Amino acid sequence: MIIDVGHTAESYGAMSARRVPEFEYNLKLARRIEERLKTDGFIEAAVMITEGKARPSLMSRVARANKKGADLFLSIHHDSVPDIYADRWEFEGKKSQFNDLFGGYSVFVSHHNPRYGESLRFARSLGNQMAEQGLIFARQYDLWFMGKYQHPLLDSDAGVYRYDELIVLKNTTMPAALLESGSIINRDEELVMASDEHRNKVASAVSSAVLDYCATRGPAPLLVAKPSSPVAKPAARVAHSKPKGGKAASKLAQSQRSASHRR
Ligand SMILES: [Zn+2]
Repeated sequence: MIIDVGHTAESYGAMSARRVPEFEYNLKLARRIEERLKTDGFIEAAVMITEGKARPSLMSRVARANKKGADLFLSIHHDSVPDIYADRWEFEGKKSQFNDLFGGYSVFVSHHNPRYGESLRFARSLGNQMAEQGLIFARQYDLWFMGKYQHPLLDSDAGVYRYDELIVLKNTTMPAALLESGSIINRDEELVMASDEHRNKVASAVSSAVLDYCATRGPAPLLVAKPSSPVAKPAARVAHSKPKGGKAASKLAQSQRSASHRR
């Protein structure tokens, strides 16, 4: 599983109410999630950090994830608000922005992901586990005043929205979801986001969701990676195949893939 750290050090995403770049929040949370997954037995869970400017970094994270043939992709973010809803204040003598009205987590999936059904199943499970931890989802995303940020709400218990055009969700070949853990432009919620307690809650929620996802995914491996070159030696293929792989599983995975294309 890949835990993608949203944005890069150079192109850091949102700026928090206390002027901490979103990338720093994403990195700390992703590391905590990785730690928790490994402790819970998902030893191949790995944080992915990308560098450089925004758009090329999106392309390179997708390319890296697809090449690795990961089973699952989760992109970690922290939320902000559209500029028109940001108010001004000063923090430690520096001009900054805030919005205390909006807050909460949200989970996004893209219908363009070739494995949309599985993406949605994982996203629902993740949202439900976040709710189990006592967290509230961001209700504003399906409302008209969000303008271009308005998205259909797919699950009003789990807080899952559909966001088709997100590159990391639509161009990845494995099931993928994006988590906005909470708003860092909300002055109270930023303090919560910075706490160990909150990071542990999210890490627990992710781990439980992955466990739930694996338990219900059926007998076929999630992704049968294609050999990197057509002349790959059989030995190399054996070494990279999944424990329960094999021809039957491969066929099943293929038919699952074409089924999801038809949807
Ligand atoms: Zn972000």
